[in-house]
Amino acid sequence: MSANTKRTWLKEPLAILAEGSDGGVVVEGSRIVELVPAGTHPAGIAETVDCSRLVMIPGLINTHHHFYQTLTRAHPDAINKELFDWLKALYPVWGKALNRESFRLATRLALTELLMSGCTAASDHHYVFPAGLGDAMDIQVEEAERLGMRITLNRGSMDLSQKDGGLPPDSVVQTTEEILKDCERVIKAWHDPAEGSFNQVALAPCSPFSVTTELMKQTAKMAKSCDCRLHTHLGETHDEDAYCLEKFKCRPVDYLEETGWLADRTWLAHGIHFNDEEVERLGKAKVGICHCPTSNMVLASGICRTRELETAGVKVGLGVDGSASNDNSNMMEGVRHALMINRLKYGAAAVTHADALRWATEGSAACLGRTDIGRIAPGMQADIAFYGLDELRFSGAGDALAALVLCGAHRAEKVMTGGKWCLEEGLPLGVDIEKLRAEHGAIARKLAGAVT
Ligand code: ZN
Repeated sequence: MSANTKRTWLKEPLAILAEGSDGGVVVEGSRIVELVPAGTHPAGIAETVDCSRLVMIPGLINTHHHFYQTLTRAHPDAINKELFDWLKALYPVWGKALNRESFRLATRLALTELLMSGCTAASDHHYVFPAGLGDAMDIQVEEAERLGMRITLNRGSMDLSQKDGGLPPDSVVQTTEEILKDCERVIKAWHDPAEGSFNQVALAPCSPFSVTTELMKQTAKMAKSCDCRLHTHLGETHDEDAYCLEKFKCRPVDYLEETGWLADRTWLAHGIHFNDEEVERLGKAKVGICHCPTSNMVLASGICRTRELETAGVKVGLGVDGSASNDNSNMMEGVRHALMINRLKYGAAAVTHADALRWATEGSAACLGRTDIGRIAPGMQADIAFYGLDELRFSGAGDALAALVLCGAHRAEKVMTGGKWCLEEGLPLGVDIEKLRAEHGAIARKLAGAVT
């Protein structure tokens, strides 16, 4: 029997987020092949991993981030501001802070933080391409591979600068032609739609206030012809509503429709300020929304209408958002914040810990258009996060799955992606975290004015 086909029993976890599998699961190659009922022993097992002190959940899936922003966390020019002022303060800093080396370290750091929190698949929306950073997407593929994680590369873009009525300065935008050409290149190089894929590509103009209508339309066309997904920021602030009304004489969802984006291949970051009629339209089109609770609280943007959106047929996933508006990349913390902010809006009974975990797993997978990850079930990829409950914060907990969210798990003990271990004893196998901390901190101090 080869190493690929050996059957590994992840045996008798303390708790598991999958019905009928109290005895654990069997993994063969990259997939989960069997759920084990309590008290039974699966046949033909080559290796057994004792999970009796671990809680198992599907690997978390982050559907919105800006890895490069780890270089400008808690930036003195941006703290205590709302989105538009926050962006205007940071665009020039990002333009200066980004080069191939700083971008690589920022990517490595963000992915490592995500992985340590139990994340197995990440989606990064990168839209700042200063001179010399043409291979940003390629760098991200290398870094995700090094950690054993899945990545959805969002080839982001901005082609509308201040001189044309946009928000970003000239120094960080590209021409429409340049962008479309590179989108095509990135899709050809990295978009793998196959089951179990580690690299996929989405096309992702930054937002209505930083790209031209022409780019929105052309991008939608390209995504359709290449069968990849579309992503952008939408419905984040009232400033955006006002901008669209003034500039396009319509609201953001109308603009989405006009540009060919109201489709099930689209998922949107934030999705807060939609009216009832817009919620219905988004649901009918089966658009996805990446809920970013932590970022929305930090920037005081508002609360996503998760309940109404799901009822209407919208897929709701979860994201940490960029590390300058969160300012960390901890997916489990995002799950906890999702529970809290939604309870504030809908009440305690209407939003459970299982809902918050579902958004971060199944919901996120649906946003990314994936049916092979996000659940622990036979045939699914073996992407699993394991948490120990030995820390003081868990002592006395009765429901182990609820404890992850309510007591605030923030660090996984083991993580498996596609049947391979990529984190053990709380540490990633592909990176030296002390060295990474020193290198990333040093380059942020040098280029972005960080103090730590
Ligand atoms: Zn964002």
